[in-house]
Amino acid sequence: MICIFNSISLRKDSFKPLDENTARIFICGPTLYDFTHLGHARIFLTYDLMCRHLNQRGIPTDVLVNMTDINQNVFNKAALEGRDYREVAHFYANAFADDLSLLNIRSVSRLAYVSDFLESIKEHILKLLDDDFAYYANGNVYLDSSKLESYGNLSRQSQDQLLDHRLDIGPHKKNQTDIMLWNCSEEFDFTWDSKFGQGIPWWHIQDTAVAFENFGINYDIHGGARELLYPHHEAHLAQYKLLSKSNNPVGTWMHVGLVTVCGEKMSKSLGNVVWSKDLVRKHGQNLLRLYLFSSHYRSDIAYEEKVLVGMKSLLQKAELASLQTSGRTDNALSKLVEEFSAALDDDLDSPRAISVFEKICSMTISGSNLDARDFKRICDVLGLEI
Ligand SMILES: [Zn+2]
Repeated sequence: MICIFNSISLRKDSFKPLDENTARIFICGPTLYDFTHLGHARIFLTYDLMCRHLNQRGIPTDVLVNMTDINQNVFNKAALEGRDYREVAHFYANAFADDLSLLNIRSVSRLAYVSDFLESIKEHILKLLDDDFAYYANGNVYLDSSKLESYGNLSRQSQDQLLDHRLDIGPHKKNQTDIMLWNCSEEFDFTWDSKFGQGIPWWHIQDTAVAFENFGINYDIHGGARELLYPHHEAHLAQYKLLSKSNNPVGTWMHVGLVTVCGEKMSKSLGNVVWSKDLVRKHGQNLLRLYLFSSHYRSDIAYEEKVLVGMKSLLQKAELASLQTSGRTDNALSKLVEEFSAALDDDLDSPRAISVFEKICSMTISGSNLDARDFKRICDVLGLEI
């Protein structure tokens, strides 16, 4: 049985796709104004590992990643370079696809530009207005959080805690916790015409429309960094519930921990960014995977290059073991091969899987028999190219 820790139930829930044929997974994707850093790479590698494991367990996966091109950071970059926002977005979307391929990530089946979904974003906002869940205020459109049942449940916040956040501030908002859907009140370099006025669709409804158009009224897993839990995922869930008329449109909320550097989150604004393409070119994607998977996906990782380099001994062991595989697997090793998969069944316990993999390699080097096909299956799940 495969279990995944579900942020909404705060426990490991057994996982079975809603549609028995395929697990449909939405991952909050990049904002298209810069390259992929290690923190982003960790997110996509986590879901890649998840998908490879699900695939080996006989569950096909369909992974949708939205790419945010309607965003002030993208507009700023376009203004700085005297280009259209779309050109900037295309450039970084291509760079993102290159980064995925450098990382040997093959699980992403759909990449979607938010701007391709403008018509459905507008339709969804209109629907929310018609149903009286949204309202106009000073040209902006907001979702009325007072009409939402269980708002705050996903991020485990009480009404008082929700009120501590100052979000989407506008002069005519009814409630402080209301979520912006369309913004006409600020100046943007690029805007779109709509029945609500000239403006831009706000962040959360962008992802909701992309997911809804691709997956319909429900899907299996919503993934992303833990820091997106509030307000982004809380807002997305509220909108999705209203649009799908379902209380439980997303089966599992699966959140990945941060990558920190010297105690700070890795981010461009803090100037501590390590680009994923530089790491792959310098150390190879095998080493990067072994390093990241040695921590559980829900834990934060304090990045240190020397720890990454320290994974070389395991990689060398794996390379040596690959040269000594045979046509059958001894019983003791068979048990370990099963234990490897069982570790991943248990909320993607990759640190345990990696330690079992190391044992398997050591025993193979010491003369135990390991079937080359078993070795290859393990490498395929980990995404190692040995
Ligand atoms: Zn998102």
